[in-house]
Amino acid sequence: MNGARSDSSDSDGAHSNTGLSNTGLFNRARAVIPGGVNSPVRAFGSVGGTPYFVARASGPYVYDVEGNRYIDYVQSYGPTILGHAHPAVTEAVQTAAASGTSYGAPTHDEVRLAEEIAHRIDGLEMVRLVSSGTEATMTAIRIARGATGRDRIVKFAGNYHGHSDALLVAGGSGVAQQGLVGSAGVTAGAVADTVVAPYNVVPELDETVAAVVVEPVAANMGLVEPAPGFLEGLRQACDEVGALLMFDEVITGFRLCFGGATQWFGVTPDIWCFGKVIGGGLPMGAVGASAEIMSNLAPLGSVYQAGTLSGNPLATAAGLAVLEKLTPDSYGRLTDISARLQAGLTAAFDDAGVEACVPRVGPLLGLFFGSEPPTDFDSAKRICDNGMYQKFFAGMLIRGVAFAPGAYEAVFTSLAHTDVELDATIKACREVAEEMA
Ligand SMILES: *Cc1c(COP(=O)(O)O)cnc(C)c1O
Repeated sequence: MNGARSDSSDSDGAHSNTGLSNTGLFNRARAVIPGGVNSPVRAFGSVGGTPYFVARASGPYVYDVEGNRYIDYVQSYGPTILGHAHPAVTEAVQTAAASGTSYGAPTHDEVRLAEEIAHRIDGLEMVRLVSSGTEATMTAIRIARGATGRDRIVKFAGNYHGHSDALLVAGGSGVAQQGLVGSAGVTAGAVADTVVAPYNVVPELDETVAAVVVEPVAANMGLVEPAPGFLEGLRQACDEVGALLMFDEVITGFRLCFGGATQWFGVTPDIWCFGKVIGGGLPMGAVGASAEIMSNLAPLGSVYQAGTLSGNPLATAAGLAVLEKLTPDSYGRLTDISARLQAGLTAAFDDAGVEACVPRVGPLLGLFFGSEPPTDFDSAKRICDNGMYQKFFAGMLIRGVAFAPGAYEAVFTSLAHTDVELDATIKACREVAEEMA
């Protein structure tokens, strides 16, 4: 498959002389890294073929070690909302790096990033910065249990909240692609207090529930919109029993709109989790809530959490550089980009007679090879496992367009995608749709 991609070579071809090949690197990688990758989806297990090994990236493009160029709709699964290697981010990271990479002491930029996040959301008064989305949700659950004195957590099938033990059960994203219900190595005890409910149905709660954790727009089983009234219903159900509502905004947080899902849906949770965009492509996560709830965290309260690299100066610099560029107007532009892609892909599939739907919530985009957009994990799985996505993925990749190597992932656009890339993507899609029909 790899050789066929060279027609999309970068015009400045300098990087094609590395002497490295994707196949060669994958072989070397598999000898020293399980599956050759540091996160399972990257291994192309569910789509087949050899992963491209990235040499560099710029704006809407990634370039592999063989010099092939791809229009990128992976965008690191969300963080690079400005596009790759945006000059503002690169400069901020370079400046920060020259002043030291980690101190183990507080910094000005941590304060600024916390203020920037709190400023965007009514009701969010304090944040604790961590180093990944996984850490954010893990910490959020510990805070919820500490604050309520209760043990049980309700999560929704097909929602992904990172890879911590208690939250992996019925996870979307790579867990879904592996066909695992959870993971080996997770004890029965670790999930004994986790209740899994179907997405888009307000579950019955009782006074043993510490928190209900939800992706306000599900973006790890393709893109599944919350049904009208679902989030409002969760808010009410939590209030009735004194449980905390937790929005996992690791994707929606500052990709959906300026104020995230709280602003978009007008529903205010008790705890928010962030990651991805707020780190600008560096390791970063955050958990936020009211000052009252956050005062449960050490050193103010008895819920312990810590991190050697938490609030890392490179990551805070990158996150600030991104958030400072993301004005309310940016979201209108990103929405236009996603809407153009949605319309082009939809027309390409329609014209070829391929059953597909391209759901969109603002700038968030999904792609399903079925007649109806799914509403929950069961309906998403029926479509994602029907074998059509693999054909689409392979056809697009050899034409120099990289979608995520798994049917359960969302489609990530960036502010760097112009009409040139969108037109090329839609043209490639027309050819692939013909082949699929
Ligand atoms: C990516 C993701 C996470 C996990 O974040 P990591 O930084 O990969 O640990 C959690 N929740 C959601 C909704 C995500 O999309």
